[in-house]
Amino acid sequence: MEKLYEADPYLRQFSARVEACTPCKKGFEVLLTETAFYPEGGGQPWDTGTLGGVRVLEVHEREGRVVHTCDGPLTPGETVEGIIDWDRRFDLMQNHSGEHIVSGIAHAKWGCDNVGFHMGAEVITIDLNVPLDGTDLAWLEEEANRYLWQDRPVLVTYPSREELPTLEYRSKKELTGQVRIVTFSGADICACCGTHVSSTGQIGLIKLLSVQKFREGVRIELVCGGRALRYLNRIGEQNHRISNLLSAKPFETGAAAERLLEENAALKSRILTMEAVRFQTLAQAHAGQDSPVVFEPGLSPDGLRRLCDALLQVCPGRCACFSGEDGKGYKYAIGCRGGDLRAFTKELNQTLSGRGGGKPDFVQGSVQADRSAVEAFLAHRS
Ligand SMILES: [Zn+2]
Repeated sequence: MEKLYEADPYLRQFSARVEACTPCKKGFEVLLTETAFYPEGGGQPWDTGTLGGVRVLEVHEREGRVVHTCDGPLTPGETVEGIIDWDRRFDLMQNHSGEHIVSGIAHAKWGCDNVGFHMGAEVITIDLNVPLDGTDLAWLEEEANRYLWQDRPVLVTYPSREELPTLEYRSKKELTGQVRIVTFSGADICACCGTHVSSTGQIGLIKLLSVQKFREGVRIELVCGGRALRYLNRIGEQNHRISNLLSAKPFETGAAAERLLEENAALKSRILTMEAVRFQTLAQAHAGQDSPVVFEPGLSPDGLRRLCDALLQVCPGRCACFSGEDGKGYKYAIGCRGGDLRAFTKELNQTLSGRGGGKPDFVQGSVQADRSAVEAFLAHRS
């Protein structure tokens, strides 16, 4: 039997004879008399590793044969040693088995089908054709983990043609050839070609991460095994940082972040009030002037706009407001009640390396020039 991984998913090293080796775009395609390399299939990504010292980049099943894409050539007729990247494979086994358990429990509870399964580099996703909410998800996660704690054996069987129609299992399709049934007793029976752990305790942990509407049902993101531990560690690190920054206990970071946002909103509102007072003072100082020019540091574009509005209430002509600093350029807001600033703005932008525009009687933008250059430009245009 060529596919050693079907009988023994824990085989990580093996010897086989090279049957063929042909150059291809990505390297060399190698056929072996037998192999422990799992080819992509059933939602499970391919194995990587080495074969006779060359890297195995990809593994696909083509016309029933396992094709290894390698980064170097091998000699047909020679016996080579294959070594599977075990960390990667075992992670895929933990996650594939976890997926079966979650799908099986959901199927038993809600009668739904798994209509999509994807094992990504970070998380795996399951699409179920039934609407579920956060409460359902919490129940599902609890049930799945309780099942893991029972450390049940996982069985792989090949039922006969006569036996098969009498069996209840997921993924029942008209398949030609031998159907392979993977049984998580009490949780799931499913036709599957993938590699699975031999007992459920080896999955360690199933963590459901999110649920969102997808077609008529939901898409669930989850992580299992070592991947779940790494994921939770990363989340924990983030929480630890927030906890330190906000001097909050680890379980109280949410409330601390909420308080910070409230404080921030209160400060913003206080700044608005103080700016309004300041802008009134500036407006009074320039009241009645024909074309006032005001430089005020530290304003946002919106602050500049409000300052210009205040001046426009008390000045008849063009009101020009700038905020910034020499070397870094200045933002501007310029208004003129009933006027047309288009030609002026064009010249301003051209002369002072600026950009910006707006309505005919009100423009905003920025210039890359120092205060003296801005003042010199405006001095000639009253
Ligand atoms: Zn499967």
